Amino acid sequence: MNLLPLLPLRDIVVFPGMVVPLFVGREKSVAALEAAMAGEKDIFLLAQLDPGCDDPDRDDLYDVGVVATVLQLLKLPDGTVRVLVEGQQRARLEGLREENGASGEMLVAQVERLEPVTAAGTEVAAMMRSVVEQFGEYAKLNKKLSQDAGDSLGDIDDASKLADAVAAQLGAKVADKQALLTETDPLKRLEMAYSFMEGELGVLQVERKIRGRVKRQMEKTQREYYLNEQLKAIQSELGGEAEEANEIAELQEKIDKLKLSKEARAKATAELKKLKTMQPMSAEATVIRNYLDVLLGLPWGKKSKIKKDIAGAQAILDADHYALEKVKDRIVEYLAVQARTNKLKGPILCLVGPPGVGKTSLGKSIARATGREFIRQSLGGVRDEAEIRGHRRTYIGSLPGKIVTNLKKAGTSNPLFLLDEIDKLGQDFRGDQQNAKFQDHYLELDIDLSDVMFVCTANSLNLPQPLLDRMELIRLEGYTEDEKVEIAERHLIAKQIEAHGLKKGEFTLTEEGLRDLIRYYTREAGVRTLEREIARLARKSLRKILEGKETSVTITPENLGDYAGVRKFKHGVSDEENQVGAVTGLAWTEVGGELLTIESVTVPGKGGVKTTGKLGEVMSESVQAAFSFVKARSPAYGIKPSIYGRKDIHIHLPEGAVPKDGPSAGVGMVTSIVSTLTGIPVRSDVAMTGEVTLRGRVLAIGGLKEKLLAALRGGIKTVLIPEENRKDLAEIPANVKEGLEIVPVSHVDEVLARALTQPLEAIEWTEADDLASVPTPGALPAGTPSATAH
Ligand code: ADP
Repeated sequence: MNLLPLLPLRDIVVFPGMVVPLFVGREKSVAALEAAMAGEKDIFLLAQLDPGCDDPDRDDLYDVGVVATVLQLLKLPDGTVRVLVEGQQRARLEGLREENGASGEMLVAQVERLEPVTAAGTEVAAMMRSVVEQFGEYAKLNKKLSQDAGDSLGDIDDASKLADAVAAQLGAKVADKQALLTETDPLKRLEMAYSFMEGELGVLQVERKIRGRVKRQMEKTQREYYLNEQLKAIQSELGGEAEEANEIAELQEKIDKLKLSKEARAKATAELKKLKTMQPMSAEATVIRNYLDVLLGLPWGKKSKIKKDIAGAQAILDADHYALEKVKDRIVEYLAVQARTNKLKGPILCLVGPPGVGKTSLGKSIARATGREFIRQSLGGVRDEAEIRGHRRTYIGSLPGKIVTNLKKAGTSNPLFLLDEIDKLGQDFRGDQQNAKFQDHYLELDIDLSDVMFVCTANSLNLPQPLLDRMELIRLEGYTEDEKVEIAERHLIAKQIEAHGLKKGEFTLTEEGLRDLIRYYTREAGVRTLEREIARLARKSLRKILEGKETSVTITPENLGDYAGVRKFKHGVSDEENQVGAVTGLAWTEVGGELLTIESVTVPGKGGVKTTGKLGEVMSESVQAAFSFVKARSPAYGIKPSIYGRKDIHIHLPEGAVPKDGPSAGVGMVTSIVSTLTGIPVRSDVAMTGEVTLRGRVLAIGGLKEKLLAALRGGIKTVLIPEENRKDLAEIPANVKEGLEIVPVSHVDEVLARALTQPLEAIEWTEADDLASVPTPGALPAGTPSATAH
């Protein structure tokens, strides 16, 4: 039995062999320590059940503690004491009492020392080894232990000591540690320690896993952050931001330098300000950038020097175009006025005529003659105003209109704009483009177009009156065969030779070959198809030359077919037979004059008329009028009115491609009907045009020159025209007048006399004959005149 000063421990269990520092503050504890120091330096260390208890008595303390030696004692200024103790031996508390020692009240314990139990055998050895190993693992995972905490354990060969050494280092709770202290059997203690470590290891492993995962995640975000920072650094190193700054500076410089209008400058500045605040790669920034690109790309203040040399202009027009004397005269006069007034006020020049007559190329020549940039803008098929005026800048794909786009392309603010096919522009939208101010929806700005010279082209005069009033119309009717030959020889052939890279002398088209090409491969007022056909000849010739089959090609009427293929048209109808009911009329179309065949036959019926061939309204009415006229004049033309009780007339106009409308086929209708009803053939080399009244008068028609050209092309010998058009003959080229017999007529009777192969013979017809021969008079149209009507 032993009496020892007692030091109650709040939150620690000390094992034998363990050296620990302790901080002691309680007065009783300090007194106990001092008492120990005064004696053998031994002290009994015993854990409290409840660490919060300040003044424990027997019931507040565990039963087993350890007898320790105080190695060192240090009194701190605040009255507390730091001691270093070393556990010596387990001991059981047998009794407890308070004693008044030298330095005050303290607890004195009556203890029974417990001798260490020794254990040996393979089981113990194995267990010891396992514990050491396990502790190694445990120490690795437990952050509170140093990595080499378990290193010296392998040297301990006593099971009890090993168990205590391990127990001392475990991060277990006081209760668990106390259990390890209480147990005296070393093997059991080893087992306890082992299982504790195993449990702990599981937890630690999970903990480590979680920690690892968290760490990886952190690393990932950190990595990304880091990379992003690096990327930024690289970008700025490569001048990304500098570039952006550069771009802004460049735009600013442009705005400053360009001769922008006040409005445009304000707008550009505002947009640039917006751009500065934007993410450079954003969609909005792109929209603004495009906008500024368009706005600043316009030819602000950039002008071509306008040539005012009128003689020079005439020379250029002459050099580029054969014939067209009057047209060129008009153009030069127009330019003269402009040169003198220095303004582009006044009417807009409008070139009207069929395709391929040189409207576009005249426009180009005018640009050349005046020193302007040439911009061609086709209006054909433009339905939507946005095509001209642009789209509002509401979405990324918005674009400015054609005017602005082309102005940008021209690069000068005073180009020549050729507005092609103005008659094909959608009806609801007809621009006021010659106004000085033009608003584009995309730019949202007024653009000054007052320096732009507008020239329009149109195939027809099918234009609204207000527009017509503001234009100076110049008509190009089409070319005669001779003119075409000249144009080809002077311009087209040379152009194609050059375009195909042929050398001088390698390609020749004889005049006869050219004439046949015009006659059998083209049928047009202009020379567009002719130019294409010549291009084809050039192409085929070039191929032969390159293939080594020929060294040069000369095209004559004999070998024309080899190069141009089969003939596409018949030339002339004069060699055709004279036929009953078949009349050659003349039509005016947008593509020039055309021959128009009118056919009629009788079919069983009751004096009605039927038409086929897609006639327009006016032409249908003109058929009705023609038929009524013939009915009224029947006996005079040798036609028995009784025929109308049995027969209908069917009139057909073949050639689907030619639009058929207008009144000018009237004379042709009458002639066809009379021929059919009398059985007298119509001369195939006669063509005719003219409107007819119900009394047979022939009225004036339009498009005389085109029609005469078509007749000439078609090999017609005689053309019957209204007397009223005689005055227009002054405008007709001499070679046309020479090639045709042109006969002005004022009444249908003259037409019939000329066109039919035999004269008509009148017959006698009375009302009585009429009644006798007409079974159902009611079937006749009301007002059908009787034979006595004339
Ligand atoms: P349009 O605009 O009237 O349809 P283009 O101007 O396109 O006709 O003319 C078709 C081709 O014919 C062009 O190569 C043009 O140079 C040529 N051409 C037309 N008329 C003449 C002419 N009088 N003299 C020379 N070449 C002409």
